[in-house]
Amino acid sequence: MTFSIHPSVDGIRQGSKDFAGGSLVCKCTDRPVKVSVKAQTAHNHACGCTKCWKPKGALFSVVAVVGRDKVTVTENGDKLAVVDPAATIQRHACKVCGVHMYGRIENTKHAFYGLDFIHTELSPEKGWQPPQFAAFVSSIIEGGADPSIMGAVRARLKEVGLEPYDALSPPLMDALATHAAKMSGVLKA
Ligand SMILES: [Zn+2]
Ligand SMILES: [Zn+2]
Repeated sequence: MTFSIHPSVDGIRQGSKDFAGGSLVCKCTDRPVKVSVKAQTAHNHACGCTKCWKPKGALFSVVAVVGRDKVTVTENGDKLAVVDPAATIQRHACKVCGVHMYGRIENTKHAFYGLDFIHTELSPEKGWQPPQFAAFVSSIIEGGADPSIMGAVRARLKEVGLEPYDALSPPLMDALATHAAKMSGVLKA
């Protein structure tokens, strides 16, 4: 049985301790979109949802978060468009090559407001935080994966050190629930 989790998952590198960011470049050879990211990322993970951008043939995307104030489009921003304006995460993608350059939450009441979602594999720099876990694993079926490979997919994820979850990781689910409980008044802010 052959499948590819994601090209960057097979040889997971360590991140560099003092890494302070780099640039993201889309796949266009002509006038590529460039985005500057002036910080290390957090919560980097393999994501099986159907919305994240993933490279050809991969079952998962690899996506991390970084403060939105650290993210700046530096070149050819005219090529960017929002994939789905109705989505919680506004994914700004290159209209020519289709790569998502950054995803931004504009709803100020959202638990993750202030964080942008980026794919550090688009960066030539080394030292980004490696993936920490796998999220929305069951969703790859909605993306077209054969349900019969799920056991092997989860086993492979564990083998490379990425605990498989069918939602986000427990700390992130707790963060969402804490935010929701504060919004509803169940928890005092
Ligand atoms: Zn492009
Ligand atoms: Zn996703």
